Amino acid sequence: MNKKKIGIFIGIAMGIILFLLAALYGYRHYQIKRQVQERNQKGILLAFDDYNPDSWQEHFDLFDEYGVKVTFFVNLKKPDAFCAEAEKRGHEIGFHTAEHANLTEVSEEEFYEQAIAPIENFRSEGYELTSFAYPFGYYEEWMNEELLKYYKTLRGAWHFQGCYKEMLQGGFIEAYSIDNLHFESDEHFREEIGKLLDVLKDCDDGTVASLFSHAISGGDWCITADRLEILFQEAKKRDLVFYTFRELQ
Ligand SMILES: [Zn+2]
Repeated sequence: MNKKKIGIFIGIAMGIILFLLAALYGYRHYQIKRQVQERNQKGILLAFDDYNPDSWQEHFDLFDEYGVKVTFFVNLKKPDAFCAEAEKRGHEIGFHTAEHANLTEVSEEEFYEQAIAPIENFRSEGYELTSFAYPFGYYEEWMNEELLKYYKTLRGAWHFQGCYKEMLQGGFIEAYSIDNLHFESDEHFREEIGKLLDVLKDCDDGTVASLFSHAISGGDWCITADRLEILFQEAKKRDLVFYTFRELQ
């Protein structure tokens, strides 16, 4: 009698375990499929360059409101409290040289000090820098080859370019400035951004475009919070997602 009960109990327990394993497998399978689909969605790589931690941090809530993740290409010798907060909120810290050096005008030694040596300072504090933006967008071909030994993606600053996400896994991509001085008014900004984002309509799945600005404020080489919101709205209308560089590497 007891043996029979034990047999039934073991049978039920095994049934439950098998059911849970099947459910877990199904869930993981669903998640992986969803990740692949999401990575294939067309989107925008939005970045903020230089070092404007106060204006950036003030707008973390705005990013969250629209589910937007961004990349901050910072000028720092080592990570600081801003970097910790940004990564905690799901954003990426990319690199932009220690002191915003024009790399085409420095010695090879200075090139190393500005663009490569700080990687170790970040790494020792738990940051893996994988994305690099050239200050002023100035570079020479040999630099790409050298820097790709350390970074996965290098970014310029001169053109709008729809590119395949594969280009972020070991290559150079361009970026387009959306700073205030390029637009006469918010309406003009909305029109121009709409046109740019429409270019992605005719591109293949997985195409992304890289946009950048600097501080979030009213200066020439900045973008106002109002215009950022316009960008987020126009992107949403077109079903475009905001990726960090790292997400596609
Ligand atoms: Zn810069």
